[in-house]
Amino acid sequence: MSIDLGHDPVVSELARHTAEFVRSVVVPEEEAFAGVAARGGDAMRARLQQAAKDAGLFAPHVPAQFGGHGLDMRGRAPVFEAAGYSLFGPLALNIAAPDEGNMHMLEAIATAEQKERYLRPLATGEVRSCFAMTEPAPGAGSDPTALTTRAAKEPGGWRIDGRKWFITGADGAAYAICMARTSGEPGHRGGATMFLVDADNPGMKIVRHVETLDESLYGGHCEMLFDGCLVPHDAVLGEVDKGFDYAQVRLGPARTTHCMRWLGIAARAQDIAVARAADRRLFGSRLAELGMVQAMIADNEIDIAASRGLVLQACWELDQGRSGAQSTAVAKTFTAEAVWRVVDRSLQICGSLGISGDVLLSRFLREVRPFRIYDGPSETHRWAIARRVVRRHLDNHASAS
Ligand SMILES: Cc1cc2nc3c(=O)[nH]c(=O)nc-3n(C[C@H](O)[C@H](O)[C@H](O)COP(=O)(O)OP(=O)(O)OC[C@H]3O[C@@H](n4cnc5c(N)ncnc54)[C@H](O)[C@@H]3O)c2cc1C
Repeated sequence: MSIDLGHDPVVSELARHTAEFVRSVVVPEEEAFAGVAARGGDAMRARLQQAAKDAGLFAPHVPAQFGGHGLDMRGRAPVFEAAGYSLFGPLALNIAAPDEGNMHMLEAIATAEQKERYLRPLATGEVRSCFAMTEPAPGAGSDPTALTTRAAKEPGGWRIDGRKWFITGADGAAYAICMARTSGEPGHRGGATMFLVDADNPGMKIVRHVETLDESLYGGHCEMLFDGCLVPHDAVLGEVDKGFDYAQVRLGPARTTHCMRWLGIAARAQDIAVARAADRRLFGSRLAELGMVQAMIADNEIDIAASRGLVLQACWELDQGRSGAQSTAVAKTFTAEAVWRVVDRSLQICGSLGISGDVLLSRFLREVRPFRIYDGPSETHRWAIARRVVRRHLDNHASAS
C-alpha cells in the first residue's frame, strides 16, 4: 500500500496563509483572554471569524456550495494544524469541535431541507451547535450501546426523555444533535436514532455547566435534560435506528481532525520551549546545550512527526472511502498521548516560567488532557485495536486451514 505524503500546492499555500493569520491576528486575542474563549464572548468570536472570512481562510473543510474550500481529509491536516497553533484558531476558521464534526455529519446524512436549515447557518458561522450522546452512569460513555435516553413515537413526531452530560458548546447552541434509543434496551448494539432539536424546544433544558479542567471552548460542557421533548418527524437525522452507524460517520473523521488541531498546540509548545532553551543560560551553557534538555526537545520532535504520519495515514484511508476504524483509533490514541507528552516536556524545559501565566503552557496542558478521554478514551481504543488485530489473525488462520 503506497500513500503520497505530498500536499497539493493550493493546500500548502492555504496552510501557510493560515499559519501567518493565526500568528498575527489570533494569537494576540488568545493571549489577551489567557486562552479562555468564554472570556472573549460572542463579540470576539464574531471578530475573529470576520477576520478569517476577510483573509479568505474561513471554513476550509466545507463544500464550496456552503461557502468553504472543500478540502478533503488529507488537505485538512496541515491547515487544521496551522489553525490549531492557537487555542482560538479553530474558532476563527469555524473548524472547532463540536461544530466541525457536526458539519461533516450533516453533509453526509442530512436531507436537502435539513442542510439548508441546519448546515448552512453552521457553515457560515451564524450559529453554533452541539452533539449530545454521553450520559451520566449507567448510560452511554465509552460504551455507546449503554444509551438510555429514549425516543418514543407520538402523533406527529417523537417524544425524547433522558439526561445527557459533558455536551460541549450546548449553552448558546442553536440546536443539538441528540442520540436517543428508539428500539432495544441499553446494551443492545442497534436501536439508536439521531434527532435535530432546536434550542427553543421547551423540552430541552441546560441543567448546569459541568466544571472542568479545560476552558477553551464556547458554551461549556453542559448537563442537559430532555424532558418530554417533542420533535416532528422531520427532526430525524438519517434513518430511524441507524444512529450508531451515523455516529461512526462522525467519530472517525472527528477524532482525526481533533488530532490535527492539537498537533498545532504541540508545535506551539515546542516553539515556546525551544525559544526558552536557546535563550536561557544555566551552569555555564545554554539550556539547549544540556543533554537532558536536548533529549526532551528531540522526543518532542519525534512525537510530533510520528503523530503527523499516523494522522495522514488515517486521512488517506478516510479519503479512499474506507471506514478507517483501525487507523483513526491508532492515530487518535498515539496523538492524544503524544501531544500531552510534548506539552508536559515543553513546560518542564521552561521551569517556573512554564507554570506561570506569562506563557500559555499550563493552559495548554489543561486543554489537551481531556483529549485522552473524549472521542474514545485511550483504553477503549486499545481494547478495540487489539480485538481487530486478533480477529484478523483468526480470520487469516481460518482461511488458511
Ligand atoms: C472535555 C470533554 C468534552 C466532551 N464533549 C462531549 C460532547 O460534546 N458530546 C458527547 O456526547 N460527549 C462528550 N464528552 C464525553 C466523552 O465522549 C466521554 O467522556 C467518553 O466517551 C468516555 O465516557 P465516560 O466519561 O462515561 O467514561 P466511562 O465510559 O465511564 O469510562 C471510564 C474509563 O474506563 C476506562 N475504559 C473504557 N473502556 C475500556 C476498556 N474497553 N477496557 C479497559 N478500560 C476501559 C477508561 O480509562 C475510561 O476513561 C466529552 C468529554 C470530555 C471530557
